[in-house]
Amino acid sequence: MAPSKVLAGARVVLPTGTVDDGRVIVDGTRIADTAPPQAETVDLSGHWVVPGFVDIHNHGGGGASFAGGTAEQVLAGVETHRRHGTTTVVASAVTGDLDFLARHAGMLAELAQQGDIVGIHFEGPFISPCRKGAHDEQLLRDPDPSEVRKLVDAAHGHAKMMTLATELPGGLDSVRLLVEHGVIAAVGHTDATYEQTVQAIDAGATVATHLFNAMPPVGHRAPGPITALLEDERITVELINDGTHLHPAALQLAFHHAGAGRVAFITDAMDAAGFGDGRYRLGPLDVEVTDGVARLVEGGSIAGSTLTLDRAFKRAVTIDRLPVEDVVAAISANPARLLGLDDRVGSLEPGKDADLVVLDDAFDLVGVMRRGEWVVAPQLG
Ligand SMILES: [Zn+2]
Repeated sequence: MAPSKVLAGARVVLPTGTVDDGRVIVDGTRIADTAPPQAETVDLSGHWVVPGFVDIHNHGGGGASFAGGTAEQVLAGVETHRRHGTTTVVASAVTGDLDFLARHAGMLAELAQQGDIVGIHFEGPFISPCRKGAHDEQLLRDPDPSEVRKLVDAAHGHAKMMTLATELPGGLDSVRLLVEHGVIAAVGHTDATYEQTVQAIDAGATVATHLFNAMPPVGHRAPGPITALLEDERITVELINDGTHLHPAALQLAFHHAGAGRVAFITDAMDAAGFGDGRYRLGPLDVEVTDGVARLVEGGSIAGSTLTLDRAFKRAVTIDRLPVEDVVAAISANPARLLGLDDRVGSLEPGKDADLVVLDDAFDLVGVMRRGEWVVAPQLG
């Protein structure tokens, strides 16, 4: 086990606010109240210490896919995102053949069992052909509760979330089934009206999958799903803050309307995240990544992002000018609570996992600790 450490001198973002010249005591894998006598002191003056990031919607990175890769590839992708500060990740599948998805979920469930990922998010196949984004239209289906159940069962208790077009036949029954099984029902890739979205929320949906993307825009006579999702206190809205998926003003609108307590920053990353431009696959479809923007080869739809959460953090503070505490809420605390993991991760408090990120004064990542071990050790001068 790693020796105990006292991280000292940094600005530390705690649930109660930011402390200048703060201390985080790491004892073994956890955060502790008091330092054991042999603890090593790490001077982090001039730096920020924030909770490790929690990504609830992520399809891969480092050249590897969570949506179709082998276990080794998934682990390589997890490692890439860890080096960018994401110490807790949900692996997102994409639309595929139902039997394939069930088999793939079985493999991901083993990784969840080992603690490498914290669960599985099914994005598709129960989504709208009108808002399919980078999903294979041939494989889309209406949300039949028995088929939804098949995927949930295949995940052996590790299904965390499913994105559905809840307006399709079987949509509301599927939402109820997911909620009964403790799985988050997320509204997304949807062509629903405002009224249909309200019904989905009343049926138990609690997340908006990448709000604004893959859903009808706001109209003054047709306020659509965005309005329904933003105005309801029961909904957490996912936002992809990469500067490509959302205009900065749209991000501000969502942040100010929902409030910092109801936003979750996600990457929706694909294999090219933390890797580079080139030709990739997203599920069964070919994707070309140019200048960090992923698009389908056929038709040119945006196909996930190449974002990592450290970049989303820096952007939110330096370009969007959001308070650091609000960014920490959106990138760590809120998603941890949504997953029901806030007793272990999402904030820097004694007893929780020692998962944290060290940033310099320009908000560039210089260190990542997961369960008390440096994933990226800060190189301090
Ligand atoms: Zn996605």
